[in-house]
Amino acid sequence: MTRKKQFKAESKRLLDLMINSIYTNKEIFLRELLSNASDASDKLYFKSLQDTDIKISKNDLQIRVDVDTENRQLIIHDRGIGMNKEELETYLGTIAKSDSHAFKEALSDDEANPVDIIGQFGVGFYSAFMVSSKIEVISKAYGHNDAYRFESNGLDGYRISEAEREHHGTTIICTIKESTDEEDYDQFLEPFTLTSLIKTYSDYIPYPIIMKTEEDKEETINSMVPLWKRSKSDVSKEQLNDFYKEKFNDFEDPLKTIQMKVEGVPSFDALLYIPKHVPHNFYSTVYEPGLQLYSRGVFIMDRNKDLIPEHFRFVQGLVDSPDLSLNISREILQHDRQLKVISNRIERRIQRELETMMKNDRDEYEKLWTNFGSSIKYGIYSSFGMNKEKLQDLLLFNSSTTNQLTSLSEYVERMKENQEEIYFISGESIAKCEISPQAEFVRSKGYEVLYLIDEIDEFVLQVMMNYDEKNFKSVNQGDLDLIDDETKEAIEKKTESSKDLLSSLKEHLSHKVDDVKLSSRLVSHPVCLVSDEGLSFEMEKVLNALPENDETMKAQRILEINPDHELLQALNSMYEKNPDTLKDYADILYDQACLIEGLPIEDPVEFSKKIANLMIETSK
Ligand code: ADP
Ligand code: MG
Repeated sequence: MTRKKQFKAESKRLLDLMINSIYTNKEIFLRELLSNASDASDKLYFKSLQDTDIKISKNDLQIRVDVDTENRQLIIHDRGIGMNKEELETYLGTIAKSDSHAFKEALSDDEANPVDIIGQFGVGFYSAFMVSSKIEVISKAYGHNDAYRFESNGLDGYRISEAEREHHGTTIICTIKESTDEEDYDQFLEPFTLTSLIKTYSDYIPYPIIMKTEEDKEETINSMVPLWKRSKSDVSKEQLNDFYKEKFNDFEDPLKTIQMKVEGVPSFDALLYIPKHVPHNFYSTVYEPGLQLYSRGVFIMDRNKDLIPEHFRFVQGLVDSPDLSLNISREILQHDRQLKVISNRIERRIQRELETMMKNDRDEYEKLWTNFGSSIKYGIYSSFGMNKEKLQDLLLFNSSTTNQLTSLSEYVERMKENQEEIYFISGESIAKCEISPQAEFVRSKGYEVLYLIDEIDEFVLQVMMNYDEKNFKSVNQGDLDLIDDETKEAIEKKTESSKDLLSSLKEHLSHKVDDVKLSSRLVSHPVCLVSDEGLSFEMEKVLNALPENDETMKAQRILEINPDHELLQALNSMYEKNPDTLKDYADILYDQACLIEGLPIEDPVEFSKKIANLMIETSK
């Protein structure tokens, strides 16, 4: 007769804790049992390498998963090292006892024989009680003649007795709980669910996991050697692409694949993909950035956000590292220092790849930029420029001198000898930037102007402040300092002679503009509106469009009149004749300038009335 033994008191508490709280996900019990089977197979295989009398090839070591629906049994067999009576007692009778941990410790000095043992905490086995009302383990240790049975219903103890078993290895028989209203346990007896769980969590267990499928055919479910573990020369581009499409649900090949193999502390392999098109939910809150995380080929979690910086959130892929300190449930990591190191290396690598791509494969890079450039720009803006150094050479802008997108370094290369600043203008479209009077002036002086047509662009340049020690300068803000002394003097003279006109205009428009002056930046246009340093019109528009901004932000407005335009003459003579009619003209001038800037005019009805009056006047 076998005597039923009690779990030690603390074990009992621990077991309860474990079953009820360590794991958030019941389905992982299968991962734990298969990982144990894999560890047991590893141990035997490793022994055979050390002891030439033991003849075992990797192919003999198979893991089988069977279902006995009638008896609600899920059965997992392995042909690994097995357990003798004492071992059953020690490892399964005491929670948190792990032979695997000791085995790994003993081997850790043996560089020549690295083993990938997965277990380390000695609790994985008990996770099976989350779904089982009873567990039976029949095991025969390698090289022993006797087999033993361990039985437990998880609550009040276990029983060990003699048993029959032909080969060395272990069979775990889980009697699956009855389904309840809240919990569907039946699924763990369905081949379909089991297959998909094996594929998700244990696909890269290095021994075949064999199951009878619904058609009663035996099949190896797992793919065993992960693609990313193979040497680069053994994996074709097509295989990498197919893997991407299957794993990350894309119908198209990726734009770029990056394979990383890093030896160090921590060591890791990574397989990274940049999609060719924007994922359909990329700009919605449903999109979850992050990389899949594996440890020793065992799936730990999907979409770990710490592995990839926000500005590369469009990169898909996975990381596999043997050096992660996982917590007891393998669901989360104990501390994220290792993750930080991995993430930094990944970030640097992507950055380098993108820079190379921009240089050598411009068309491809521009595709990427069109799809995901905003993430990169946002990365600079949202970090208040902290990511500037890393990301500034990945930026592309439209420009006045080339039909193609240009990088900042390309702009700087083309800068004129005496040019000290990088000029830009913001607008809704390239066409709008092109017709801007201020841009026309800077272009006429032979300088290149960047056309910023994305709302965030100007904010990005603002946090960057400069590039290669050259400041960014808006062509419609502040002083441009692009005229010679002679012209300056001429403008001063004209300002003097139009003094009364200008102050009268300024007085009438005082509630709309901060100043009215003669312009040093207009070529053919009669007027323009510029803003002072600080808030620009483009930023004013964007900020006021934000839902949380109910206060209207206003840029400082300066109305500039072209000193060389006939209009100045006309205004002056009108002022002399009748200063009162000038008021209507002042309003029209201001509204016109607003229209050119793409700013709304305050009273369109009034504006058109005044234009109509003007037409009538001139026809008289
Ligand atoms: P861990 O895998 O973290 O060590 P487990 O609770 O999963 O913890 O297993 C505890 C111990 O039980 C293992 O270290 C191992 O010694 C033993 N064990 C469990 N399953 C098997 C098996 N299928 N074959 C041989 N030994 C096993
Ligand atoms: Mg284990």
